[in-house]
Amino acid sequence: MAIERTLVLVKPDGVARRLVGEILSRFERAGLTIERMELVQATPERIMAHYPSSETWLRSVGEKTREAYARDGLDIAASFGSDDPLAIGRTVKSWLSAYMTGGPVVALMLSGNRAVELVRKLVGHTFPSAAAPGTIRGDYALDSPEVANAARRSIHNLVHASGSVAEAEEEIALWFGERPLTR
Ligand code: GDP
Ligand code: MG
Repeated sequence: MAIERTLVLVKPDGVARRLVGEILSRFERAGLTIERMELVQATPERIMAHYPSSETWLRSVGEKTREAYARDGLDIAASFGSDDPLAIGRTVKSWLSAYMTGGPVVALMLSGNRAVELVRKLVGHTFPSAAAPGTIRGDYALDSPEVANAARRSIHNLVHASGSVAEAEEEIALWFGERPLTR
């Protein structure tokens, strides 16, 4: 067994829509263990520390957006003024602070066999419009990049889940440990 820990945030839209119980029950019924849970009003500093500043991460965010636009035949430069994944990633990150501090979040530490990958599977694709039915984002949200980008805001997709074991440990330290707000 590869017992892992992972960090989930029920984002402000999930809390405001009274979906905390529903979202929690999906993790519980899969067999994951709730290790820690707290309702937190995040500060912009915490959110900026939560989302990485590395070029690798920023670029990966921009690439995902670029792929979605290409698939749908949309013009990414018209939305972002550039088709450079790094520039797109930076713009997307700049919107996350307003979204994630717009109300309280529920921070959760979950554990279980291959918890990181399992939780990502239950959460579904970043863009709810592309998330499979049966996933949290696919069942309860319908936002899409073109609509969110036109409004200059983050995609509302109800939950954050760590993307890797290393990201999970960083994030657990930030939300439940003593890590300072730098990254
Ligand atoms: P996640 O790991 O699935 O949450 O996705 P990422 O780590 O790539 O992105 C972090 C968050 O930024 C996402 O959950 C969305 O809320 C937001 N986001 C990502 N890509 C875009 C985008 O292309 N446009 C907008 N407006 N928001 C985005
Ligand atoms: Mg991520």
